[in-house]
Amino acid sequence: KLRLDNVQKSFGATRVLDGISLDVAKGEMVCLIGASGSGKSTLLRCINLLEPLDDGAIWLDGEDIAEPALDPQPIRQRIGIVFQSFNLFPHMTAVENVMLAPRRVRKETREALRPEVTALFDRFGLADRMGHYPDQLSGGQQQRVAIIRALAMRPEIMLFDEITSALDPELVGEVLQVLKALKEDGMTMILATHEMAFARDVADRVCVLDHGRIIEEGPPAQVFTAPREARTRAFLSRVL
Ligand code: ATP
Ligand code: MG
Repeated sequence: KLRLDNVQKSFGATRVLDGISLDVAKGEMVCLIGASGSGKSTLLRCINLLEPLDDGAIWLDGEDIAEPALDPQPIRQRIGIVFQSFNLFPHMTAVENVMLAPRRVRKETREALRPEVTALFDRFGLADRMGHYPDQLSGGQQQRVAIIRALAMRPEIMLFDEITSALDPELVGEVLQVLKALKEDGMTMILATHEMAFARDVADRVCVLDHGRIIEEGPPAQVFTAPREARTRAFLSRVL
């Protein structure tokens, strides 16, 4: 479904992604782990076409979406991304934040969008928060609104970049719960995460990045309990 083929990216003289190849099947949850600076965020930004590649290809249903001549806009609708910082518009209510992009991009009315959007707020425990402004919501609630906003574009694939890193520890669980629910729905997801316990329990596959390369990948049971690479063991011993 999604296939990265030899993705390369440098910033100046620094090679940040050094030939990343990765297949992600429909409905699969892949977790990217690795030290700070190993390239996790850059990889997600490249997949979402927020950064142009230097070389390589990103195949989505048989089309190379990294082809520079393509219009990135329709592709970004198919691949949602959520960041550590929630980036909600502070002067808009939760529901207005969620409806903004579908109204602009799909030209749908609030009335047409309301059933689908209400169902999303319901599903993620925010039915009574639709009319709240971001500063009236907890960090965990704001992050769930940010996820709903991405889902309202009906993406085929969701990318998550350390979405629990800015949250107080007691709010992390409610956001991870959303990811579990999405996995049950069959959403295809790629996460950069420092939540090793979550990756171990929920991911279908874990990829270990080191200096812009995938040095090891496999089911979490294998990567966490019997890593093949010395560098993986060194990384895990620092974070576990
Ligand atoms: P973290 O765990 O800290 O989030 P990461 O694995 O997400 O780290 P990246 O943010 O992808 O790492 O960064 C990889 C490398 O690329 C780092 O050395 C970083 O300084 C560099 N880098 C990222 N973005 C840019 C940029 N826009 N310009 C220059 N260098 C960049
Ligand atoms: Mg990062």
